[in-house]
Order: sequence, then C-alpha cells, then structure tokens
Amino acid sequence: MTIPDIVLRGGRVIDPETGLDEITDVAVSGGQITEVGNGLPAAAVDVDVAGHVVTAGFVDLHSHTADVAGLRIRALDGVTTALELEAGTAPVATAYERAAAEGRPVNYGFAASWALARMAAVGGITLDGRIGTFLANIATPAWQGRATPAQVSEILTGLAADLADGALGIGVLVGYAPGTRPDEYVRVAALAAEAGVPTFTHARDLIELAPEALIDGAEEIVRTAAETGAQMHYCHVNSTSIRHVDRVLELVGRAQAAGSRVSTEAYPYGSGMTGIGAAFLAPERLHERNLTPASLTYAPTGEQVADEARLRELRATDPGGLAIIRQLDEDDPADLDVLLRSLLFPDAIVASDAMPLTWPGPVPDQMTWPLPAGAFTHPRTAGTYSRSLRMLAADRGGRVGAGGPLGLTETLRRSSLLPARLLESHVPAMRRKGRLQPGCDADIVVFDPATVSDQATYAEPTRPSRGIRHVLVNGTFVVRDSAVVQDALPGLPVRARPR
Ligand SMILES: [Zn+2]
Repeated sequence: MTIPDIVLRGGRVIDPETGLDEITDVAVSGGQITEVGNGLPAAAVDVDVAGHVVTAGFVDLHSHTADVAGLRIRALDGVTTALELEAGTAPVATAYERAAAEGRPVNYGFAASWALARMAAVGGITLDGRIGTFLANIATPAWQGRATPAQVSEILTGLAADLADGALGIGVLVGYAPGTRPDEYVRVAALAAEAGVPTFTHARDLIELAPEALIDGAEEIVRTAAETGAQMHYCHVNSTSIRHVDRVLELVGRAQAAGSRVSTEAYPYGSGMTGIGAAFLAPERLHERNLTPASLTYAPTGEQVADEARLRELRATDPGGLAIIRQLDEDDPADLDVLLRSLLFPDAIVASDAMPLTWPGPVPDQMTWPLPAGAFTHPRTAGTYSRSLRMLAADRGGRVGAGGPLGLTETLRRSSLLPARLLESHVPAMRRKGRLQPGCDADIVVFDPATVSDQATYAEPTRPSRGIRHVLVNGTFVVRDSAVVQDALPGLPVRARPR
C-alpha cells in the first residue's frame, strides 16, 4: 500500500461536478488528489479536518492582483488559481516569465490584452507585462478614440502574437475606450473565435447611462457573440449594469437560449474600483451613474473626493490612482437585492476583480509578511469568496451550508467548477481543476462552515477572511491553520494549449 504525502481526514468532502457530499478522507500525493474514500492509510502529514468542508480551491477568472503579497491575501480567501483575463497583459510571455522567476503562492495565467495592444498601436506606449502600464495610461485620449485601419491591423497582430505565446483568451476593456468603433470589437472577437479562445469584456457603457454611446454595451456583447460564434464572457455584470441588471441579464438569457456562447460573472460588493482617470469618471459624466465627486474615495490617501475641482486635479496628476466608486449601497435592502440578482443569475460565475495593493509610500518587498500596514485595495481582493459563501450559501444565522439563496454546492460550483469549465477546451490544465476527484490537481480549500466569512471592509480592505483553515496548491500547503506558509510558492503557470 502506498503511503500518501497528505491525508485530510474526516471532512465533509464536496465535489461540485459529481455532487459528492459526504464525510470522508482525501489523499494527496505528488501534487495530485490520489484517493477519496474511507480507511485511507496514515500519511506523513495526517490532518484531522472534522467539522470542515473540503472542496476544490477557487478559480478566479478576474484577478488584477499580481504579486506574492496580494496573492497571499487571495489564498487566505480560498483562491488557488488567480487569472488575469479581463485586462489581460502584454507581452504575456514577459508576465509568465516574471511570475515563474519570482514564484507565486497560487496558480497564475494571463489573457492577451486588447487595451494594451491598442495603447501600443494608437498611443505608442511600451509594454512591460504589468497592469500598472494600463492604469498609468488609462486617461490618455488617443487610445480611447477611433483607430485607423492600419492601427486595427496592428492591434490584431499584437493579440495574435500573445495568443501564440499561450494567452488564455483576449481581455477587452472596451468600456474604457468609448471611441472604439463596434467593427473593431467584432474583429477582436472574430480573432478569438478563430483561435478557439474566449473573450473577457468590460462592457461599454449601457445606453441608459450614456445615450451617446456608439452602441449599447450589453447589445454589443450578445450581437458580437451571435455574429462571430466566439465564446464571450461578460465581466462583472453587477458593476457595469448597476440598476439596469434585469434588462442586461434578460438580454444575456435570450442570447444563451438562442445558442450564443455568452457567460457572466459577478462579485458580491456594491462599490467598484478603478483608476480615477477612467473615461466614465469624468466630472461631466458622473451624473450618468447617479454619482457625485463625493461618491469616490481616492485610495492612495483614503480621501473622499471633495468636489469637482479636486476630481479634475486627481485625474490630471494620478490618472491610474485607484478609487472606490460607491454605486450600490449594500446596507440598503433594495440595492442589495439588485446586487444579488447578478449573483443568482443561472450559471453566473463568482469572480473577484481583485485589485493590486496600493501603498501610500515605498512599495515593500512582496515577500514581506505579515503584510505591513497601510496597503489599500478593494475588499473584494481579500473577501470575495468567503463573502459569496456567506451571502449565497448561509442561513439567517450565518451558518454556511444550512440554506441561502443558492446553497453550498451550487455556490462552490460557481466558484471553482464553472470557471474551470469555461477554459478547459483550450487549456488542458483546467480539466484537472475545479474538482475534488482522484487524478485532479491537489488545489484544495478546507473551511469551517460555522465561521467562514469575509472580514475585509472598505476601511480595512486587506483583512483576511475568517474560517479558511487550510489551502493547498498543487499538493503544498500555502495556508495552514489559517496562517500563510511563508516559504510556499507552489503556483504553476496555466497556459493555453499550443496551436
Ligand atoms: Zn472591469
């Protein structure tokens, strides 16, 4: 009898694919789950997890958090794979090389970036494989406008090169470049369809919000999916739809029923976050979203933006500076219900839109742990998955697994299996993720259903979630007894199959 490396003994083991939900043991060896069942032999590391849920680690399709410090906070929320698919990056090879050289606590991967390809082609910027480059150039008028046919060709060439380097899809931040012609968007989707990869869109403004938009943001996605046959993922449908979410989701539902490959995701928070220089945060456009300058908090200083003059100043001096955008009030039952509708939509994936950590002074070494005080981010970075369990799978007393609008297995399915399935046709590694089955990667989260909960708030956005007991990535503990294992960097690259 082979002795496993690790046995997780006596937990409530849930596999969202087969529906397994029973008290049993899980054996791990060589980075994989080798056995699930009772009476497994004693292992060198034999861990009693009675009273805990044992399930597949969470697969986040939408993570702008790139460094070790930020990814440790993600791991403390149960995330075992964090993918940068909405913004994407460029060159993807540079981003993969950097992550491999530095090491990562969780698995990582990148889409090609339409925005960065466009910034290079239209704005002449130099690409370095970092999200900061997008944020620093977010307000540059040139890249937000119409591209010439030659520039569109250059954008498509750049994207094709990154797809050839293993990019997982194409991220399309079209909502940040309102001058983009709809036919350019169609050509990007057609490229994705031809390559057999999905697109990940931050939608253009809805027509209700911006009547002068060249096309309604939701219509653009579903029409393009129908026209090109591309698999098109509608990112954070909560934050771009706000109070128009019913109209948007009905449109998506009709497109799905008609056979278009459109999927959605949402995160469980009422406020958004992005660079303060974003086109839709221009003072003259705030009214479209029922916002005022005071709806924004500038993260680097924590200040609530005083007035229009201060907003203009911040947009000019630090356009990539992150700002919290209060859109829906989670304490208002009507607003909370709007938010819930985007999370409850059939097969809506839980995805965080986790943000980079912002430091008021010098950026500490990414290996420094515990995290030095002062980092700012959005609480979704630290709390999305625990909060989703609490909102979607808990009874009124807060006990996860005892009720909730979705229930436990379905919430887990949306946090691990569905995102893995979205990618698995062209990313073989994803067939072994999002499942708690023998032969799958030992990316595992163990949590206490009685206490699991987010702790991060808008005031204290990096507070780790509570109740996440153990997290394994490729068979290595990155979180053990709710503490970060500091020398553990077992994350592996997730890349598309070479074509
Ligand atoms: Zn976005």
